[in-house]
Amino acid sequence: MAHGWEGAVLKLMRGKDFTFTVTQVERVSDRYHRLRLTDGGLLAEVPPHPTMWVRLWFERAGKPHQRAFTLVDPDPDPASGTFTLEFALHQGTASDWARAAVPGDTVDATLQGTGFPRPEPAPDRLLLVGDPASLPAINSLLDAYPDTPATLWFETPHPADGELPFRVDPARHDLRRVPRADGDAGLIARVKAELPALLGDDPATAYAWIACDTATTRTLAAFLKKESGLPKRRVHALGYWRA
Ligand SMILES: Cc1cc2nc3c(=O)[nH]c(=O)nc-3n(C[C@H](O)[C@H](O)[C@H](O)COP(=O)(O)OP(=O)(O)OC[C@H]3O[C@@H](n4cnc5c(N)ncnc54)[C@H](O)[C@@H]3O)c2cc1C
Repeated sequence: MAHGWEGAVLKLMRGKDFTFTVTQVERVSDRYHRLRLTDGGLLAEVPPHPTMWVRLWFERAGKPHQRAFTLVDPDPDPASGTFTLEFALHQGTASDWARAAVPGDTVDATLQGTGFPRPEPAPDRLLLVGDPASLPAINSLLDAYPDTPATLWFETPHPADGELPFRVDPARHDLRRVPRADGDAGLIARVKAELPALLGDDPATAYAWIACDTATTRTLAAFLKKESGLPKRRVHALGYWRA
């Protein structure tokens, strides 16, 4: 598929292009599908890092559209070149593709813009805020810091989303499911009310990572950076989708 002007810009920014092939499909739930894929050479060229994401290309009405998705469980042997993608499903171009995917299907991808500067010093507590779209990235952070206590505020747009494949260990991780709502019961109010008490005497030892819809992410990032006492460099925030 030609990738249009966006593809041309990514090329100029040294984007690397690959074609992935679906090898397995797992329907975790009606709203969450997992696809195993071969990587078209990506992992041999670029070592994986926590929260690593790629831009997938889909065609709609004859035009190319890119959507971001997170690599899950890249095979530690890059030569085998396999990884998983997990799709939080709704109505949308990427969701429709994932819902219909069968082994043998292919999708073009560009790698550009991903990165994970590890916070230094290493955090003694992770404060994570997300939803089904960012669960793959959140799980990759829990894997990357296996001994670090974490609190996760997880927005559930649907009751079934409370039972997704969280990689939480109740001994170290506190998972707080928050039904999607406005006002005092919603994610913003819950995080504002509950997070400051977890910062302790030295807030700079914690690390906060936020990825929800863009408006929620923006509001929470502003709160954390300006009002919570966490230094800005210990807050990472990226909107994952537009409501
Ligand atoms: C760095 C990064 C990594 C990401 N990794 C993943 C991942 O691993 N798995 C994953 O599922 N998503 C991930 N996302 C989010 C995903 O890119 C967006 O949800 C994207 O919009 C989905 O594209 P679509 O074509 O299905 O829907 P679109 O065509 O973009 O949107 C169609 C409609 O669906 C709504 N919508 C879009 N996304 C969501 C959502 N998540 N929940 C509810 N409604 C939505 C929109 O408001 C719109 O009305 C990631 C985003 C970023 C920025």
